[in-house]
Amino acid sequence: MSSRSGSVGGGSSAGGSSAGGGAAVPLAVLLRREVASERTASERPELHSGLFSQAKKGEDFTFLKPDCERLPGVPSSSFSAFGLFDGHNGNGAAIYTKENLLNNILSAVPADLNREDWLAALPRALVAAFVKTDKDFQTKARSSGTTVTFVIIDGLVITVASVGDSRCVLEAEGSIYHLSSDHRFDASKEEVDRVTESGGDVGRLNVVGGAEIGPLRCWPGGLCLSRSIGDQDVGQFIVPVPLVKQVKLSTAGGRLIIASDGVWDALSPEAAFNCSRELPPEPAAEQIVKTAVHSKGLRDDTTCIVVDIVAEKNSSSMPLPKKQQGIGVFKNMFCKKKSSDSSSHADREYMDPDIVEEMFEDGCALLSRRLDSEYPVRNMFKLFICAICQVELKPNQGISVHEDSSQPGSLRRWDGPFLCQSCQEKKEAMEGKHRSRDSSRNSGSGE
Ligand SMILES: [Zn+2]
Repeated sequence: MSSRSGSVGGGSSAGGSSAGGGAAVPLAVLLRREVASERTASERPELHSGLFSQAKKGEDFTFLKPDCERLPGVPSSSFSAFGLFDGHNGNGAAIYTKENLLNNILSAVPADLNREDWLAALPRALVAAFVKTDKDFQTKARSSGTTVTFVIIDGLVITVASVGDSRCVLEAEGSIYHLSSDHRFDASKEEVDRVTESGGDVGRLNVVGGAEIGPLRCWPGGLCLSRSIGDQDVGQFIVPVPLVKQVKLSTAGGRLIIASDGVWDALSPEAAFNCSRELPPEPAAEQIVKTAVHSKGLRDDTTCIVVDIVAEKNSSSMPLPKKQQGIGVFKNMFCKKKSSDSSSHADREYMDPDIVEEMFEDGCALLSRRLDSEYPVRNMFKLFICAICQVELKPNQGISVHEDSSQPGSLRRWDGPFLCQSCQEKKEAMEGKHRSRDSSRNSGSGE
């Protein structure tokens, strides 16, 4: 499957035809901007993708759309999108998210951006779209939830947004990179603290005699995930705010594996890459799923998407020096940035062209921070549009994302971005500020 459909003027828009609010910009202007920020030939890789799945409960869903266009009818604005949704307590949230998330992402990006600005805008648009999708789904159903691992590939730039525990891992330049979250209570003390402070009760299952067994879960309900889309019946503190990571590959390209926990419960990322090496994407995905099922049995839905990003061979630029071949060097390229407050884009000017370059990472659950990112462009996000649901706000109708009803008169209440009333209520509920229902568990072993 190639990523470049080349449907010139076909008007085949990306999954979201209703992209972006804001004034229309003449096509000629958009094209000129597009050319100005055009990818160089070496930055236009080919994509090949494959999928394999073995169902047990029928709650894993996938989304493969290799031929999206940011500007409908402009092939050079093409990008590819891949998603994995592992549902629980029913498949409603997974199906709803699969059908609506890309549209919500595209409507959260202003229509008139060039490529560089669109890539810079994506992290914030992904946060807005995840929250909007969650909020909209809650008007349709109370129960069911889903993990979301959503990958956008534009040239050599990979942007991954994730909630829950389906993983996306990258192998490039001889190393393995983790591009997604592990939003399980067992994996993050920080998430346990966040949920507990917001009114959730986290602990292990009690059996008769007082023994505690199994993973850490949130009660009532017993969910192991600290973030997801859906799960209104568990509590609003199970938030849909994704970890977003953005990296740029070197011209050597790389392979992505996106898979549900049915795979990762049985295989390490290293084992998944090793067992499928040399195979094209579809047989590779099948091999990974079969290896996982063979080792642990089919205990859960087990789904895998493999995407190869292959740089064009005839591209200009420098010949690549030989890299070290030792696969299995686990790298957490982001650790050096960890608790830093700067979620801004890294300096891209002087990067070595021969390494995977980290461009962005932020996993904070606070919307006041995630929606407030600074960008190198002016007026990218319109002040009078709700930063989450994109509804138009009348003057003095918007509520600052920094407003905090538990601390009236907070410092930055006149600062944008702004939210509509309903999204402001959603934000406060996510932060545990509306504790209408008693969510405590009788046994009280959790902290
Ligand atoms: Zn809103």
